[in-house]
Amino acid sequence: MFYASVGVKQIQAHLARSRHLWGRRGASDMLFYLTDISGVADDIPVATRGLRTVREILEEHPGVVINIDSVDTDGVVQLQGPGRSAVEAAARAIAHNLKLHLPAASVETSIREAASSVAVLRAEREGEPASTTAYPPTVIEFPLAHHCDECSSAMASREVRVREQLLRLCGDCAARNEGPRNETLRSSATVPTSGFMVEQRMLRSLQLTQVQDFKQLAGLGQLPAEEARRTTTNNHIATVFADGNGLGGLFGHLRDEAIRDGSTRHLLEVSKRIKQATENGLRAAIETSRIAERDGKVMAAIPHILGGDDVLVSVPATRVWTFLITFMTTMQQLLGEDPYEEARSISFSAGVVICHQAFPIGDQVELAERLLRQAKWVEQGQEWTFAWQDVTNEGSQPLERVVRLDEWPRHEALMEAARHIGGEKGGNTARATLRAELRLPDIGARTLRLRHLADRMEGAEDLFNLAFGQEWRDEPVTDAHTRDLLGALSIMRWLP
Ligand SMILES: [Zn+2]
Repeated sequence: MFYASVGVKQIQAHLARSRHLWGRRGASDMLFYLTDISGVADDIPVATRGLRTVREILEEHPGVVINIDSVDTDGVVQLQGPGRSAVEAAARAIAHNLKLHLPAASVETSIREAASSVAVLRAEREGEPASTTAYPPTVIEFPLAHHCDECSSAMASREVRVREQLLRLCGDCAARNEGPRNETLRSSATVPTSGFMVEQRMLRSLQLTQVQDFKQLAGLGQLPAEEARRTTTNNHIATVFADGNGLGGLFGHLRDEAIRDGSTRHLLEVSKRIKQATENGLRAAIETSRIAERDGKVMAAIPHILGGDDVLVSVPATRVWTFLITFMTTMQQLLGEDPYEEARSISFSAGVVICHQAFPIGDQVELAERLLRQAKWVEQGQEWTFAWQDVTNEGSQPLERVVRLDEWPRHEALMEAARHIGGEKGGNTARATLRAELRLPDIGARTLRLRHLADRMEGAEDLFNLAFGQEWRDEPVTDAHTRDLLGALSIMRWLP
């Protein structure tokens, strides 16, 4: 038997090529249509979708079928058949179909001969080479000789009207434009289980409507005057990129088990359960951070993609901390109850970017990814951790700042104490002064300034005792002392 996989690589980067939300959403829809094997895409009339589905392509390749014993990964189509040339031809046709509609996607096909799905796992484990073909992003197109207005990274090849604006777009961005195929998908009778359709599923299960763009999302974060410690709370969003730690080890273990027992049943089951848990964690976070009287029927979150265990989502900046902590604690609880013992040792890490709503989504995703890697790396992927960057205040060069989830209560206590510094009229100004003093690079000068501040500013003494320890006046105030307090002050900027 011959086994083939056709997969889209670097999906997050591909989704984030668009500057605008319509482009990201359009790309999700296209990736769903072009890799769907559930039948949902087939049920949508050809005239509406305007593209061929995987099943339609397979009808032209007799003997080649979907491999149902493989792990269901979004953006990957798994095939099998008795003849090499037929399997190769089918894989190539599916890859070409993807490239035809999404030329900027990076696609790879891989084919190997094996006795069974389990034998494929064994060959992968032993590192036996497969025959692979890569289809890199196609960026050069003729004839407009003008960079694409939406992604700037490819040449424009056609003029397209997008939301009343005539744009010169590359093929990939043009395919993302809203049309009947997107509308039909939104109202299709069956809700696809694909990770590309996570926003649709959340909207349906919570019975809410979609935000139009990042500007509207940011606006939902506006705080009533009495709650706001900042002047403007309606123009910032936060993008969270979270994923599981220790999944590699867990799946390695499950693959070994599958090879030993000759069945992928358990592997498929655990992988499905982790995906479900991640989706439930996401739903809980959206629900908890929702404020019905302000949001009305609109969902104040844009889930971009839900992979097996990874999730990329944007929320209003003033909701991000509630969102993140709910997501992490829910995941901790759900995984802690998993019947499979090895799943209980999985933790999650997150990278969070807080920025102006006009900061390009591609840059947000790239920075969130770097922060996520940092959060994982600091505790060697053994802990529940997060790293964040408040771009407007801290720039876009990632700080080396990672906090463990179990340190959150300490940060809450610091925030509570920091709320009271400077008395009634203190507030933001007092905290901005404090932040500047804490950041003084010269430890000697910093220590003197902070001692002075403790005597002069209301509430500062109590705050420093809590942050640095009761004996803090006896020794220099080092970076290790100031780390948590600076972190807490940064979190407070967007926490109501
Ligand atoms: Zn483009």
